[in-house]
Amino acid sequence: MARIQNENRVLLHICCGPCSITVVQGLRAEGFEVTGLFYNPNIHPAAEYLRRREALVEVAARLDFPVIFLDKEYDPAVYLRETAFRENNRCFHCYRLRLERTLKVARRGGFAHFSSTLLYSKMQKHDVIRDLGHDLAGDSKTAFLYRDFRPTWNQGIELSKSFGIYRQDYCGCIFSEFERRRRDLRQLG
Ligand code: SF4
Repeated sequence: MARIQNENRVLLHICCGPCSITVVQGLRAEGFEVTGLFYNPNIHPAAEYLRRREALVEVAARLDFPVIFLDKEYDPAVYLRETAFRENNRCFHCYRLRLERTLKVARRGGFAHFSSTLLYSKMQKHDVIRDLGHDLAGDSKTAFLYRDFRPTWNQGIELSKSFGIYRQDYCGCIFSEFERRRRDLRQLG
């Protein structure tokens, strides 16, 4: 009995509340027991981290699932060290940083699987995340649970709006915020 339970346990890296809704619903519909993990040192600035965290607390309360918040590990320097001088390939290193940490926690916690809400976003490099997850897992007992959650993109947006939670307008890092605002900045000059 305990073995079956263990095989159903998945540690889900969660980038933000809105992206978690249909992912958690979908995995549960498949019979998985989901625990979230909020580990995102890429988010800039700290106030934004707190807003996204709050949105996830709201989603977790509504859907009733547990979340591990690694708040003490929130340190932008960790993200910046990983991506310095390789900004053009920064997303790969950002994914790796977060998936590696998720896998480590999953192994320690005896989870049979780990996954990420990054697989929900149409804005992310989906295939890179899938391949990276499988590569990190290797042949270990903790498998990468790959699903293409993107077909629920619109549904997730509608649900997050109906929940009234904070919905960010940039991916997370300082670079993505700059890219989001660049057009506005150029119009000023
Ligand atoms: S754009 Fe998003 S995925 Fe890419 S490095 Fe920035 S926060 Fe990470």
